[in-house]
Amino acid sequence: MAAEFLEEVSRRSGQRFEGCYHCLSCGGGCPVVEAMDYNPNQIIRMVQRGMREEVLGSKAIWVCVGCFSCLSQCPNRVHIPAMMDTLREMALGARRLLSADIGLADTGIAGPGGGTSAKPVGLFYLGLATPAGTAVQELRLEGDRRQNREATALAALALLVGYLERGQLGIGTLE
Ligand code: SF4
Ligand code: SF4
Repeated sequence: MAAEFLEEVSRRSGQRFEGCYHCLSCGGGCPVVEAMDYNPNQIIRMVQRGMREEVLGSKAIWVCVGCFSCLSQCPNRVHIPAMMDTLREMALGARRLLSADIGLADTGIAGPGGGTSAKPVGLFYLGLATPAGTAVQELRLEGDRRQNREATALAALALLVGYLERGQLGIGTLE
């Protein structure tokens, strides 16, 4: 089963991932790694181990902004951006299998700790998966933990309502 998931991701992306020897260099250059639930190296390891549900249900695949920083830092040129694109497509396919029309997710750093200068407290990402495609929105909030969580929930609902009212995606559309 592990090989089956790895092969599927490889075939769909046109890339190979066996070459990753888990040196962790990729996560060091990722601008959004602290907003991820699993870092890029962990996602590769989970793909190699056949952890389909965990990978396709992760926030990390939606937080990735496709900046190619990990690819440029990888000594083996493991194409993580292509892998993340493929995993998002597979997650959308799973959503269709579950007969869910819309998926809405948020991730970020609510505080009070956990922030850095590059990824400060208040940095959040919203993800909206719909039949019209997928949108990602970045938030930069300045409240305390409770305020940040409330503002994120409201922004997520606004993103959803905006889509329902317009019937199309707006900011940060991926596809
Ligand atoms: S930098 Fe490359 S080899 Fe190192 S963990 Fe990341 S993908 Fe694997
Ligand atoms: S492509 Fe995605 S995983 Fe790679 S560094 Fe950029 S945001 Fe991080």
